[in-house]
Amino acid sequence: MRYEGAVYRPPSEASSLIIQFTIGCARNTCTFCAMYKDKNFRIRPLKDVEEDLEMARSYYRNIPVKRIFLADGDALIVKTADMLHILAKCKEYFPEVERISVYGAPKDIIHKTPEELAQLKAAGLDMVYMGLESGSDEVLLEVKKGATQAEMIAAGKKVKDAGMILSMTVISGLGGKKYWKEHAMETAKVITAIKPEYIGFLTLMIEEGTPMYEQQQRGELNLLTPHEVLDETELFIKTVDAEGTMFRSNHASNYTPLAGTLNFEKDKILAQIEHSRQNSRFRSDIFRGI
Ligand code: SF4
Repeated sequence: MRYEGAVYRPPSEASSLIIQFTIGCARNTCTFCAMYKDKNFRIRPLKDVEEDLEMARSYYRNIPVKRIFLADGDALIVKTADMLHILAKCKEYFPEVERISVYGAPKDIIHKTPEELAQLKAAGLDMVYMGLESGSDEVLLEVKKGATQAEMIAAGKKVKDAGMILSMTVISGLGGKKYWKEHAMETAKVITAIKPEYIGFLTLMIEEGTPMYEQQQRGELNLLTPHEVLDETELFIKTVDAEGTMFRSNHASNYTPLAGTLNFEKDKILAQIEHSRQNSRFRSDIFRGI
């Protein structure tokens, strides 16, 4: 396999075969995100992707590959016919594969018809990771996410209607002190409307090289303290109604680990929050990471 630049994948794809279908992120506007700032977006030629699959097969000749993640930032931007071609090649080279997944940007999902998404699912695309970041239109606009709450809901529902597993991420503290309540409540509204299989909360980290870092240097940000992040998460948990959605806030960026399945484990999650609040034992900033 050949990899160009730093390659990112969701934590749950740690043991997956990663194949770059695109390079970088087509939008690259989010003020908090440093992942692909050094890459000019492009879709790789199909023959290069196929060659990587072939190389991977010869490398993993005697090792079963159960999961494949098609990177980089938003592989769903690729034309459906080309995606179907590569999905077929994934199955040809790795007949043992059990799950193929991608990051999907909301607008790319919306641009695909329900029939196209159903075709992709039938061809083996089982899971989409979608960065919600926030359900609040104010916050989404502020961080230049390039999608509105309504678009997030439409995109999430389309993925679920196609029968794919949907995993969404939210960034705690993204709205700062100004928008923390809207961030919690509007995010709960989106998750209630979509009811994804998974929702993962990261916690905002300001990375050098991002527009948000510049804002911080200029003293324009009013970031939440660890206790305020707990207040925000507590408000989200109390407001959301998404039976069966698995909630996780146990990423390296989080101040404190929280986990449970909505709605029936809400009390357990709220107890975890209260416990953290009482103990004030938070992961120190030097040990937090993306
Ligand atoms: S958060 Fe996602 S959409 Fe935004 S710049 Fe980063 S990779 Fe692109």
